[in-house]
Amino acid sequence: MSPVGNENRVLSGLVEIGRGLATVMSHFGREPVTLEYPEVMPDLSTRFHGRLCLLTKSDSTDLCIGCKACARVCPCDDLIQIEMHRDENKKPVIDRFTIDIGRCIFCGNCTEVCPVDCIKMLSDFELADYSREALVLDKFDLNLPGEASDQWRVEHGLEKTVK
Ligand code: SF4
Ligand code: SF4
Repeated sequence: MSPVGNENRVLSGLVEIGRGLATVMSHFGREPVTLEYPEVMPDLSTRFHGRLCLLTKSDSTDLCIGCKACARVCPCDDLIQIEMHRDENKKPVIDRFTIDIGRCIFCGNCTEVCPVDCIKMLSDFELADYSREALVLDKFDLNLPGEASDQWRVEHGLEKTVK
């Protein structure tokens, strides 16, 4: 290659280095757009679609009436399973309520059809576990105590107390 060709290549190399440095300098001093997760947790919207839960009444008793609307509207077969019976006063008693969170696509359909605003989503997104079985959440895992349910309702513009 001729000396002129070599000079052109060195020049264009220097121009590219200069452009790279200019890009770095233009970001210098800017606020970072990333977080040092998990030390710093993101500030998520109250509408974030995270782990499902069952709100309870203010006294921590079941709010769910076992209508199964959530199970019927869920696009994933048998993902929500509910067994219930009625007591001597015809009040619904939930015997079993499970959600296979490992198959959930977090569409939120179930939360929209619930007639009593019971099944809802939390901002919890750290859902990994060691087995598929561990991802099947039962009523004990899903139920949010009364105080936490009241707090959820306040944060989402619903009536605070449910009796
Ligand atoms: S969020 Fe969607 S996929 Fe998950 S349980 Fe509810 S309806 Fe089913
Ligand atoms: S739609 Fe609501 S009330 Fe009906 S079974 Fe599901 S969680 Fe319970």
